[in-house]
Amino acid sequence: MTPLIHILDANSANQIAAGEVVERPASVVKELVENSLDAGAKHIDITIEGNGVPLIRVRDDGSGIGRADLPLAVIRHATSKITQIEDLDHLQTLGFRGEALPSIASVSHFEISSRPEYEEAGLSFTLKGGEEEGLTEIGCPVGTSVTVRDLFFNTPARLKFLKSTATEFGLISDTVGRIALAHPEIAISLTHPQQVVLQTTGRGDLREAIGAVIGYDLARQLIPIQMSDEKWRLEGFISPPNLVRSSKQAQFFMVNGRIIRSPLLSRALAEGYHTLIPAKHHPIAVLHVSLPPSEYDVNVHPTKMDVRFKDEAGLSQFIREAVNAALLRSKPLPAFQSQS
Ligand code: ADP
Ligand code: MG
Repeated sequence: MTPLIHILDANSANQIAAGEVVERPASVVKELVENSLDAGAKHIDITIEGNGVPLIRVRDDGSGIGRADLPLAVIRHATSKITQIEDLDHLQTLGFRGEALPSIASVSHFEISSRPEYEEAGLSFTLKGGEEEGLTEIGCPVGTSVTVRDLFFNTPARLKFLKSTATEFGLISDTVGRIALAHPEIAISLTHPQQVVLQTTGRGDLREAIGAVIGYDLARQLIPIQMSDEKWRLEGFISPPNLVRSSKQAQFFMVNGRIIRSPLLSRALAEGYHTLIPAKHHPIAVLHVSLPPSEYDVNVHPTKMDVRFKDEAGLSQFIREAVNAALLRSKPLPAFQSQS
């Protein structure tokens, strides 16, 4: 009898993986920009049309991809970033799964053009729904440009689940904003549809990047925070206790440059303010935490937004103390002022 179980063809497997990696246009933007960051780009330009479905383009001036590598970049589990699982213990890149490009390519009209510095001409590779269309030589600057059109054209269920242009573009701009806060040393621009809606200088000044992303007026009022010991380093800005929000939307946490969601850090931050902040209100914060990669695990979820810290209690205490110290240093403390 012929077996009932068979191995899925590569394209079907990619489309299934795409269900996890590319939930919506903003996730495509996140994956593409992370690749640009991993490639050491200094400039990243993002162009969006509509809600991202008609067009997402990410252009960088990073390392580029060589001729031999370009066709491999869209193959599942193909990555230049790790060779074996042990490499995760000293991971220096944002990517490592080798799933983003094949997933995105399997649910869109996809083009990747690239040229490394050592090559005279660039190469452009196009796919439609994961099926290879062509590989052609082109003239292009050093770096990589990925163009995604007609996202989810072959997965109508996904397409139907997308929200309005305002919502989807809002999520894209949120994603780009977070990346800009994580990397003030990189010049990032977001254009939609033909207008630059977000632009950072890449000068490496975090307060300036916060200004570009959340607003210059707010950025000026934030308090610098900085603390380090042998294991952890914390750097960034927090709001004075009188500058609070009713949501945690304006809390940004980065671990070794990776943007994460962290109820743990959020709680530690709030605890650092003690009773200075009214109930149901939340401080604004942009916090960069640096720690040895062996101190946390990023391989928790395909989107890599969640991390697991080895020493949660120790890290929480470190954050609380740093927040405390920063608030004490900043004077005058508005909460005390009102008592005098
Ligand atoms: P991962 O990032 O997990 O390795 P991806 O599917 O996102 O997997 O990318 C596959 C490979 O393609 C990467 O490992 C990298 O070698 C190459 N690549 C993708 N995007 C870029 C880029 N913008 N610049 C240079 N190389 C890239
Ligand atoms: Mg990647």
